[in-house]
Amino acid sequence: MVSTTLKTTKSEEIFAAAQKLMPGGVSSPVRAFKSVGGQPIVFDRVKGAYIWDVDENQYIDYVGTWGPAICGHAHPEVIKALHESLEKGTSFGAPSLLENVLAEMVIDAVPSIEMVRFVNSGTEACMAVLRLMRAFTGRDKLIKFEGCYHGHADMFLVKAGSGVATLGLPDSPGVPKSVTANTLNAPYNDLEAVKALFAENPGEIAGVILEPVVGNAGFIVPDAGFLEGLREITKDNGALLVFDEVMTGFRIAYGGAQEKFGVTPDLTTLGKVIGGGLPVGAYGGRRDIMGMVAPAGPMYQAGTLSGNPLAMTAGIKTLELLQKPGTYEQLDKITKKLSNGLLQIAKETGHAVCGGQISGMFGLFFAAGPVHNYDDAKKSDVAKFGRFHRGMLEHGIYLAPSQFEAGFTSLAHTEEDVDRTLAAAREVMASI
Ligand code: PMP
Repeated sequence: MVSTTLKTTKSEEIFAAAQKLMPGGVSSPVRAFKSVGGQPIVFDRVKGAYIWDVDENQYIDYVGTWGPAICGHAHPEVIKALHESLEKGTSFGAPSLLENVLAEMVIDAVPSIEMVRFVNSGTEACMAVLRLMRAFTGRDKLIKFEGCYHGHADMFLVKAGSGVATLGLPDSPGVPKSVTANTLNAPYNDLEAVKALFAENPGEIAGVILEPVVGNAGFIVPDAGFLEGLREITKDNGALLVFDEVMTGFRIAYGGAQEKFGVTPDLTTLGKVIGGGLPVGAYGGRRDIMGMVAPAGPMYQAGTLSGNPLAMTAGIKTLELLQKPGTYEQLDKITKKLSNGLLQIAKETGHAVCGGQISGMFGLFFAAGPVHNYDDAKKSDVAKFGRFHRGMLEHGIYLAPSQFEAGFTSLAHTEEDVDRTLAAAREVMASI
C-alpha cells in the first residue's frame, strides 16, 4: 500500500465494509484501484468538473463517470429535465415520445445510423450487434482487436481491454471455448493481419468490430489509412464493419469517430454520453440490416427497461447542450492544453512518456512510445503510473485508476482547473 497524506478514514471504513458485501468491494472491477495500489476513494457527490469523497476531499475529475459526464456532472439543465420527467414516472415498458426524440437526434448525428435500437448498457449494445452481424451475413466468425473492449459478453472476452487489461487477467474462466472459437484477434493498426485472417477464413467472417479510437487499452489513435483500409477489406469480403463508439460517440465529435475520420461503418454501437449519466446503450446502422431486428425481423433482442424515460431525458438534454456552437472546440482546446502540458512536464522531469488527445478524450502512457497497439501499450511502466496516480490524488486530481484507460474532460473544466492539474503534475512527476 502506498503511503497517503489524504485523510480517508470514512472511505476506508466504507470500503472495508463493501469488501464483505460485494466481490472486491465494487460493482465494476477497475474501481477497486487494484492496479494503482492504495485505497479507493468512496464518492459522496459530483458537480461540474469536481467530485467530493465521503471525507470531504475535493478533486478535479478526469474520469467523468467513464465518459458520460461530457457537459460536467449534474448539469443544472439535465437535472431540471430529469426532475420533470421523474414526475411522470420512472419506467413505462412501452413506447414513448422521448424515444423518438433521442432516436432522431442520434440518426441525424451519426453518419452510419439510419435506424437505432436502445438498450441499457454498452455491453448489451455490443452483444446485440454481434448477433445482428451474424444474422445478416449468415456467417459466424468475428474479427476484433487485441486490447479493444466491447463489454463483458462471452464472445468478446478474448484478449480484451479495460478491466481485463488493467488486472492483467487471462481470458475469463466461465467462458466456454466453443463460444470464443469464432472470435479472431488482430493487433490494432495492422491491416495485413486482418487481410490474412480473411484469407485464412474465406466466406466465414461476419465482420470486424473495433474502437475507432481506442480508450480501453489506454488512448490509441488509428494510423492514417487504418479505418479506410478496414472499410475496403470488409466491403471486398462481403463482411460488415462495426464501430464500437460507446466511448467515442458524441465525445470526439458530435457524430463520433466516423464523422471525425470520414469513414462510415455499416453498424455502430453507442452508450455513455447518449444516456447523460443514466444507464443506456444503443446500436444502429443501415436500414436493411436493422430491419432484421425483432419485431421488424427475426433477430431477437429485448429489454424490460430499454428506452427508459429517465435515460432518454438525460440523453436528449445532454445532446442538446452539445449542439451549442463551439462545444467541441472548447473540449479540444482545454484537453490539448492538459495533454501538451503533461507531456512537456514529463519531458522536463525526465520521464519517458507519450500520449495525446482528440477533443475531450486523452491518454498518457509511461512508455517512450509510440503506441500503435496493445503490445506497445503493455511496455508502459505501470508501477510508475501507480505512483503518479496516487500522487495526483493526494493533490486533488482524480485520474482513471489504470494505465489502460483513457481520460475525459468536460465542458465544465476550466483553464484554471487545467493549470491546477499541471501544477500538481509538476510536483508529482518530480517526486516519482
Ligand atoms: N464498448 C466500449 C468501447 C466501452 O468503452 C465500454 C465501456 N467502457 C463498453 C463497450 C461496455 O459498456 P458498458 O460498461 O456500458 O457495458
